[in-house]
Amino acid sequence: MEKYCDICQCEQETQVISKKESLPVRGEEIETVSDVRVCLFCGNELFDEELDTKNLERVYRAYRSKHNLLSPLEIREIRKSIGSGRTVATLLGWSQATIVRYEGGAIPSPSHHEQLLRLKNDPSYLKYLFNLNGDKLKDRERDRIRVMIEKEDVPVELSPIDFLSKLFAPFYDKGITNIEFDFEKLAAMVQIFAETNQGLVKTKLQKLLYYADNLHYKRYGYSITGLAYIHNHFGPVPANHDLICWVLETVGAIELKPYKGPYEGEIIVPVEKGDRELFSDEELDVILTVAEYFKDFTASRISDFSHRERGYLETAQKEIIPFSYANDLKLD
Ligand SMILES: [Zn+2]
Repeated sequence: MEKYCDICQCEQETQVISKKESLPVRGEEIETVSDVRVCLFCGNELFDEELDTKNLERVYRAYRSKHNLLSPLEIREIRKSIGSGRTVATLLGWSQATIVRYEGGAIPSPSHHEQLLRLKNDPSYLKYLFNLNGDKLKDRERDRIRVMIEKEDVPVELSPIDFLSKLFAPFYDKGITNIEFDFEKLAAMVQIFAETNQGLVKTKLQKLLYYADNLHYKRYGYSITGLAYIHNHFGPVPANHDLICWVLETVGAIELKPYKGPYEGEIIVPVEKGDRELFSDEELDVILTVAEYFKDFTASRISDFSHRERGYLETAQKEIIPFSYANDLKLD
């Protein structure tokens, strides 16, 4: 096939050859074999839209198979089993354009991919989404989905722990935390803090968790609980902190008792002794270091202390405090 070569500056006979190359997909270099059109006279690579599109599809396929991702066709099948693109996008809390892109071959973000897998494998997830976003559907769609769910007749009650884990999964998927949320470690850590810090109030607990996770990150490059932390008026707090306390209380890990003192409030009382066996020696050392260091701090003193942390100073209200700031933590 003759094509214009911009080196030779004239039409030349061309040929399609295969060459090994690595192309970036979602920030990762993927080895692939690409077909390229070259000028038979000078060897120059010529732009060929059709070949480029195929090369891109090929490298995306390689990426998908390397990471075990759903194919566009599988995504379409999952979506069709529930309804229109808009219905499913609404339920998932996505834009319709997003699902169209995925069915068209774009690689889903890790958290979106996780949602799609759940939709495929876990029948209770549809009911969960329906309870979450069903009110945004048109009446007819809503009725249709409701019938679908009732026909399935699956147990849908999420345990509070599963619910919390689902809430924290996206932080891990998005790389905000580099370990997965571990409720049992969280519960044991809270219990240990409550044992070692008499009269522990929620606001102080939030800071202790922040210091333990960040100190472990500073020393070893990853945190302990998998919680993410947010800049709040009174210092760093775990995301969903009220819900965390509620779950800890509901599953019987802690009790909240009225605080006897000049202020109203509740103190955290451990229902059982925090299980030290859950932690590595390094983790336990970090937890006990933090517990000991702040033992005699009041809630307002630890709050003031945390306000001087670089991760706090350089973030705005409600912003996530990246773990990269852990290296500047005022605790060693
Ligand atoms: Zn040429």
